[in-house]
Amino acid sequence: MSAELKPCPFCASNNLSISYRGQPARDFFIGCNSCGACGPAVPSANPAGGAYNPETVPSWNRRPTVYQDGENAATSSADNQGERG
Ligand SMILES: [Zn+2]
Repeated sequence: MSAELKPCPFCASNNLSISYRGQPARDFFIGCNSCGACGPAVPSANPAGGAYNPETVPSWNRRPTVYQDGENAATSSADNQGERG
């Protein structure tokens, strides 16, 4: 079962890749190759298991998107009208 990556919440790009930080790779996160946005880093309990912490993708997908209005939009709907056709 491979989780699917949602597009970048900032630029809607699908050009995403998994990155990590830490000397022994430890914290894994999704990065956008188009705008450079990064998802939250998720510590891997099993660094030797490679760059695919099962929590990495869900944590990226969980991010609120800013290009869509709706469920996660923080802006008030009052001054956000007329943006969509
Ligand atoms: Zn992006």
